[in-house]
Amino acid sequence: MSSETVLYMVIPCYNEQEVLPDSAKKLKNKISDLIARKKIGKNSKICFVNDGSRDRTWEMIQELCQKDPVYSGICLAHNEGHQNAVLAGLMTVQPYCDATISIDADLQDDIDAIDAMVDKYGEGCNIVYGVRDNRESDTWFKRFTAEGFYRFMKNMGAEVIFNHADFRLMDKKALAAFGEYQEVNLFLRGIVPMIGLKHDCVYYKRKERLAGKSKYPLKKMFAFAWQGITSLSSKPIKFIVNLGLGISVISGLVLLWSLFRHFTGQTIAGWTSLIISLWLLGGLILLAIGIIGEYVGKIYLEVKRRPRYLVQEFIDANQKNSGVLK
Ligand code: UDP
Ligand code: MG
Repeated sequence: MSSETVLYMVIPCYNEQEVLPDSAKKLKNKISDLIARKKIGKNSKICFVNDGSRDRTWEMIQELCQKDPVYSGICLAHNEGHQNAVLAGLMTVQPYCDATISIDADLQDDIDAIDAMVDKYGEGCNIVYGVRDNRESDTWFKRFTAEGFYRFMKNMGAEVIFNHADFRLMDKKALAAFGEYQEVNLFLRGIVPMIGLKHDCVYYKRKERLAGKSKYPLKKMFAFAWQGITSLSSKPIKFIVNLGLGISVISGLVLLWSLFRHFTGQTIAGWTSLIISLWLLGGLILLAIGIIGEYVGKIYLEVKRRPRYLVQEFIDANQKNSGVLK
């Protein structure tokens, strides 16, 4: 990076009034330090994306923007979820900057790793992934489920970076490539590695949330994992096909065996085997239809081509077209 490089930090915020003042201060210190050390240009900014919060988050972002031009803000028309909030932020600031860093509002990801990210960008990287090198601050349950998830995703054929969440630097080239991925069922962690380009990782220790509660309760976490699997991999369908083939072969053998017993005059054990196969096959068929249904549901959403986010307001002291509904 050089003193010419305009860096925008994109921070999705959903009901983050407890952490916002503290995060805003810490991020400003970080950006001021990088500007002072001529690592980035002075037009670099911290851009908060209000993802339809129901508390004072947007009012607080507006106040910050009024007080200091280093802050800018995007207000989404309603809550679209973390992934779409990051997407909205990246796509809105893309024309105004050379590189972006996305980071969560609670600063669980170490902002000091930004220095290393900026250095890697200076060395020519288009994408720099922030990777947690320990999960001590997470509960054993979160650790267990998260690690299982990354492993499972790999087995499913998705190219995910182990222990990388959505803390990453992307430059103009990476953003332009990313803009080509128009899917509605967005799973950034799976899509960004597909871009390729020159990339590297920086490692950091993940901390506790600054304040407030996680916006990812267990139910949302599983929904997110499921979203990742079904939007990146079609292996579950292949699994069903193989399962179906396997069961067909077994059924054929059972059929031959039953006929053999019939013609040799032996009684077929009727009720038990009938009931077992009925229920087993019924269950498997239902499972198969269910999983296929998931994909059909995704296709349904994709073909509708609904907008993934709607920007209601954009505040940026440097930009002429800020403040309008785009
Ligand atoms: N977030 C969002 N929209 C949502 C839920 C979460 O923009 O619908 C933001 C949230 O404000 C935070 C980030 O996504 O900046 C990650 O959420 P959180 O820290 O609660 O998740 P966790 O770290 O517990 O997985
Ligand atoms: Mg968090």
